Amino acid sequence: MRQLAVTPVAVSPRVWLLLLLGLFGLFVLGFDQGQTLALFQGEHAFDVNLIHELVHDMRHAAGFPCH
Ligand SMILES: [Zn+2]
Repeated sequence: MRQLAVTPVAVSPRVWLLLLLGLFGLFVLGFDQGQTLALFQGEHAFDVNLIHELVHDMRHAAGFPCH
């Protein structure tokens, strides 16, 4: 049986930052139900659900679970 040598690859902090920003963007565009703006608006953000309303059609077009 042939063994593969696995060597750790150094990932630059810039790549980690881009990955985190990408994941955050995916969450905001695809799954947010008021959580992001609740950091600034409090409970009111869950009632208004502004980001959800803004990206609602895109979510349906992209196949994200919406409601
Ligand atoms: Zn919807």
